Amino acid sequence: MNTILQIFDVIPIHTKNNLSWSQHLSQAITSLPELVEHLGLPKSLAQQGAEAHQSFKLLVPRPYLSRIEYGNPNDPLLLQVLPSLSEMQKVVGYTKDPLEEADHNPQKAIVHKYKRRLLVITTGTCAVNCRYCFRRHFPYGENQLAQAEWESVIDYLKAHPDVNEVILSGGDPLMMKDSLLADKLHKLEALPQIKRLRIHSRLPVVIPDRVCDDMLTWITASRLDIVMVWHINHANEVDANLAQAADKLKKRASPCLTKGYY
Ligand code: SF4
Repeated sequence: MNTILQIFDVIPIHTKNNLSWSQHLSQAITSLPELVEHLGLPKSLAQQGAEAHQSFKLLVPRPYLSRIEYGNPNDPLLLQVLPSLSEMQKVVGYTKDPLEEADHNPQKAIVHKYKRRLLVITTGTCAVNCRYCFRRHFPYGENQLAQAEWESVIDYLKAHPDVNEVILSGGDPLMMKDSLLADKLHKLEALPQIKRLRIHSRLPVVIPDRVCDDMLTWITASRLDIVMVWHINHANEVDANLAQAADKLKKRASPCLTKGYY
């Protein structure tokens, strides 16, 4: 659990630009030919990935792009985001719902597999589209929760008093504005049964500026035991800006990190 923190402790902090996380998001690359050209890769890679791109659109924010090696078609970060023909192959024994979430989806936006833990699909969007994503076929359309419908989650929790831990998942829960996340948090805090909130996100990994003051404000003010789970796949993803974001979180909200940081 502390391994990544130890890595962060030895990475020097470099300067970075001043864009907000949402500005980084708006400048993300969504064009396959543009990605291939930007990284000096053969144009044939764009052609062979076209069908997969149509099936699941390419999305790469530039702070993540900067960690991909120029001219290397086998870069481990590139392979996570580059659409490939192999994604379209059918493989015997593979399924579109490997975690069998459809069997545990009792109502809109809720996945309830364990007695004391409830997973809430907060949004269907992400800051990066990972080719391997096990939720890329999840029926987000049927599980899209309008802001006004959050009460249905609260009602479900009241009807299941054994649940003491809520996981905000998605998509990526940190795609929501901090004001909306704070509002959800307050509603959960009002339920005495809820002790812990887990926030599962890849957003700070691909756009480290997501660890902003607004986010730290609602996290540090909560009575809940908040556990941030960052989805990191490869050591090359841990650059100086990510280290700085982790350091900021560690200093302002140390319980989040010491209680659960992967
Ligand atoms: S960020 Fe997470 S949910 Fe979104 S595409 Fe990647 S693995 Fe899937």
